Amino acid sequence: MKTEHSMQLFTDARTLIPGGVNSPVRACRAVGTDPLFVAEASGCTITDVDGNRFVDFVGSWGPMIVGHAHPEVVEAIRSTAGRGTSFGAPSPLEIDLAAEVCAAVPSLEKVRFVNSGTEATMSAVRLARGYTGRKMVVKFDGCYHGHADSFLVKAGSGLITLGIPGSPGVPDDIVKNTISIPYNDEAVLDATLRNPELDIACVIVEPVAGNMGVVPPSETFLQKLRQLTSELGIVLIFDEVITGFRLALGGAQEYFDVTPDLTCLGKIIGGGLPVGAYGGRSDIMDLIAPEGPVYQAGTLSGNPLAMAAGLATLGIVKQPGFYKELEEKSEWFGNALNAVAASLSVPVVLNRVGSMMTCFFTPDPVTDFQSASHAETDLYGEYYRQMRSQGIWLAPSQFEALFVSAAHERKHLEKALVAAESSFKKLMK
Ligand code: PMP
Repeated sequence: MKTEHSMQLFTDARTLIPGGVNSPVRACRAVGTDPLFVAEASGCTITDVDGNRFVDFVGSWGPMIVGHAHPEVVEAIRSTAGRGTSFGAPSPLEIDLAAEVCAAVPSLEKVRFVNSGTEATMSAVRLARGYTGRKMVVKFDGCYHGHADSFLVKAGSGLITLGIPGSPGVPDDIVKNTISIPYNDEAVLDATLRNPELDIACVIVEPVAGNMGVVPPSETFLQKLRQLTSELGIVLIFDEVITGFRLALGGAQEYFDVTPDLTCLGKIIGGGLPVGAYGGRSDIMDLIAPEGPVYQAGTLSGNPLAMAAGLATLGIVKQPGFYKELEEKSEWFGNALNAVAASLSVPVVLNRVGSMMTCFFTPDPVTDFQSASHAETDLYGEYYRQMRSQGIWLAPSQFEALFVSAAHERKHLEKALVAAESSFKKLMK
């Protein structure tokens, strides 16, 4: 595979942009290689600057559920752009998208648009603190909620530990207000939330974890979380930046039938343009400025291009049968990939919920961060490089999801299976 142009661009980029990339995983360091630069994408196909074509299973990390450059989305952006790209004043498309989002996700009585998932989670936590008058945030090890200071927390050791900064530049004083506990561990959850010394404002959770690789909630985890938070007056925030409009029209909360107080969205609702949103019960949402005292703002929030792209995308996913078809296709693909691995005795575990899945290079069940971290990242790196050389575009990290989109046809999935078989064979040598 020729990669000269990408390599030259990467060399140039590194002189101007830290690490040559505008978001760290893109640099492909975790999989022991350099990034390919993308020239264009259409449907489920990505073409790099050297003319190589790939079947894309990243989908821009989730947003591209209807495929790249979908004609309806492109047309919506084009026609909207001709009428101006930002006004700094309210415009009708914001109401249209708010209405679509609130209709699809019934726990959202009101919604506020922002520009990224990070802004959504950061603002939702501020709101939860403003609403409860309490301080502490509880999150789960291995869940990612964007790069705001409060979330860049490493779990310490011990049963209930206060956070320690996960990055230089994050003060201890900030993360001491964040507690990180194991995902899917109801006993620790119960003990933490009931601890009278902790002044807990909210619990934030990825209802299906996607950022330690895909890890589903255990059968009762989300219910237990709902029951405890309701009982204790703690705000429950579902971070559905990935799962929103991915698992169902109503997201993970519909899929698992658990209703949070606040929900964070992003990715799909912007159809590939920068967007985020947070919403929930009116009595909480009405505390946001200018209705209430909790401040949150944004120059480009409710941007018309993002609203138009989101509206066009939601128009497609709400067609009858959209999620059923996506589920069937994903199930077929997940099962087939598992079968290929099993036939070659490759020790992998495939976790899948709907159209998001991760093939972990470990023989043991992956149910939390601890078990995910048993995965052999070197093997994943080798697998990634093998797959890429055969035209399959995967996430450049073991701890990310593979996404199936509406644009994947049987032939694309079959191509990936053939590539997986040959990659697995090379790994097992
Ligand atoms: N929450 C979750 C669950 C995410 O996966 C991400 C990003 N991958 C974010 C929040 C942050 O979103 P953004 O990158 O748009 O800031």
